[in-house]
Amino acid sequence: MLEACQDLLRKANETAVKNVLLGKGGPFGAILALCDEGSNAYECIGEPGANAVLETGVATTHAEDRVLQPHYIEVLKNVLIRWLDDGLAPRLVLVSSGQSCPACHAKAEIVARHLTEGRLFKGQEELFGSVQEILGKNMIVLYGTSYQETARVAGFNDLPYVADLMRFAAEPDGPSMVAYETRDLYDIPKAVTDIFRDAPRKVSILVRGGEVLAVGEDQRTDIDLFSTSEVTAIRTACIKQKQAGLEAPWLLGDPNTRNPDKERKAILYTGSDIGPLMRAELQWSAVNGLVHVTGLPYELPKTCLREIPSMTNDAFLRAMARGYNHDKSRLSVLQSTRTYNKNPFFVWTLKQENMPAVTYNGAACDDALQGYMEKAAFVFRGEALDENSAKADRRSGPTTFYLDPSPT
Ligand SMILES: [Zn+2]
Repeated sequence: MLEACQDLLRKANETAVKNVLLGKGGPFGAILALCDEGSNAYECIGEPGANAVLETGVATTHAEDRVLQPHYIEVLKNVLIRWLDDGLAPRLVLVSSGQSCPACHAKAEIVARHLTEGRLFKGQEELFGSVQEILGKNMIVLYGTSYQETARVAGFNDLPYVADLMRFAAEPDGPSMVAYETRDLYDIPKAVTDIFRDAPRKVSILVRGGEVLAVGEDQRTDIDLFSTSEVTAIRTACIKQKQAGLEAPWLLGDPNTRNPDKERKAILYTGSDIGPLMRAELQWSAVNGLVHVTGLPYELPKTCLREIPSMTNDAFLRAMARGYNHDKSRLSVLQSTRTYNKNPFFVWTLKQENMPAVTYNGAACDDALQGYMEKAAFVFRGEALDENSAKADRRSGPTTFYLDPSPT
């Protein structure tokens, strides 16, 4: 199976290079696949995905996000049924050319949990019992280049976002890229109070400089796993900006997060507490503040407030902040350390007129964040796939991968 994974990574790298050469976006490619545990057989789910930020105008339409969209989840379920009919032992694998940012990491966890905690249906008929009994293991996430390598070669730096997530989990009242506060329904702008009061399902409202930019409703289905009200509000606002012809439609607030301009400052008001997906989406879109609104005159359904049905948002956030490969994660994260994995990033650098500066979407990186960056570099490190293949082989055995059956 390791060879199949390497092969998939080569394809993801090719997709990333093509994306750069076509000028469609950054040097990032991803593939979702089923791999047979006992052989090198594999099947890709749909086409490989590539970073589509320039095309969509939405900051988090990264390669991994593209291959976890509803169409792919539907195809995946059908392919999985076919594999099980054929008596194969499928492992679900997500391969990406670069290490996933926290938004994509959260999405991978959501998909892994959705599948392993769910049940497979063909029409009305339930097949094979619980998927956990069959798939019974974590989703494998394999990446080619680390945060530090992509920063060094091509100027992309996701480490501050990860560090900010860790810091927020440890010190929710401390400084962070997205300032956070809790407020009562009647202690927020009146226009926002009115929307909350009159529309129980519209639970996320994005405001910039006093103007309501977008209102988000939970639009998730059993194949659309990410369209929470917050994601919907962000996406709607970005698409509006793109249609209006803005140069960087993916930026909703003031990228100067340390001292945002009053008129450009964007705030998301939500009836929910904070989950990691929401937080990461806000970081990427340069939304400056997050207000958890309490005292709503109705109770919001639990399903609409949680990013993962079986887990509170807070537990999910803390699980993500612990990094990779622990018992609260449904992912087994590996890195392939082959030199050619850096190729897409070299191609990106060669296409630029100057060596790209190391940036991270304008988010402020204060001194306190530096300490978390060091910690993050340590806990967000995939197990080596090729440096010590015996070790990697052991990790893919059923015992190591067995899931904690009690949802947190
Ligand atoms: Zn991402």
